[in-house]
Amino acid sequence: MKRRLIICLLFIVIFITGCFNKKDPDVVLNDPNIEYNSFYDGKYGTTGKLEGNSIVVSIFVNEKTTEWTNSGTDKRNISNIHSKLRTATRYLTENAKKYNKTATFIYDWETYSDLKYKATFKEDLLTTKGTYYKIQKAWIKENINSKALKNKYKADNIIYMFFINTEFQNQVKPWTITHNNCSYCDIEYSNIFYRFQGIATPAATFAHEILHQFGAPDFYYANDYINQRYVDHLEGSNSKDIMFYINKGTSIDSKFTALDAYYVGIGSRPKEANDWNLNQNEFERG
Ligand SMILES: [Zn+2]
Repeated sequence: MKRRLIICLLFIVIFITGCFNKKDPDVVLNDPNIEYNSFYDGKYGTTGKLEGNSIVVSIFVNEKTTEWTNSGTDKRNISNIHSKLRTATRYLTENAKKYNKTATFIYDWETYSDLKYKATFKEDLLTTKGTYYKIQKAWIKENINSKALKNKYKADNIIYMFFINTEFQNQVKPWTITHNNCSYCDIEYSNIFYRFQGIATPAATFAHEILHQFGAPDFYYANDYINQRYVDHLEGSNSKDIMFYINKGTSIDSKFTALDAYYVGIGSRPKEANDWNLNQNEFERG
């Protein structure tokens, strides 16, 4: 009787493990040494339009003041990042579909271990945009065989995400350096601070930062793409546009709008862009 029970339990464990280990059926792997001819030529940085295959390369950073340890807490935090990445990339896939685009994301380092890295920097990376761009870019070039990854996953786009294990008192918000606001920045990446200003970085922020890599600008301050009149309009109308508004938590309520679709190269220029005299997206600029 006891033996039967053990065998039964064993079967249940094997079944459950099997379910969780299921590979993404859409991913057909290629030989890393065989050149994959992506539709995207890299003209707008490492990430082009929101379509095709995109791999997410996750880099866990130890730097001057923070580190990832082997503690149970940090393991849970890393697992939270994994699930927020899943939520964010599913959100992007679903929204791209509304514009008749297939955007497939391969991020799952539990299945594909070459999508997860550890990096150590002696610098204090808790700074605003781009302070250590050259150093982080050099790290990517030295430590990640991006070409082999692109071949292996038949990837059009590569999204690099640095994860930094900050506490709630950290004041620096996550940010992304991207070709559309730094023309010499050929490698685009996001610095995601695990916690900032009293909150755990929400899943919506993950999606927002990834959208930056695809060319979407921020809508909450005037910049090269958006004027102050439009920012005031979004404020006045309580906009939920994901480039303007981020909801907290592990699900995403922020909206992917026609203007976002235009800026990431999958939607035509909406009437709103002309009405508010907004600037061209990076793809039309050429
Ligand atoms: Zn932003």
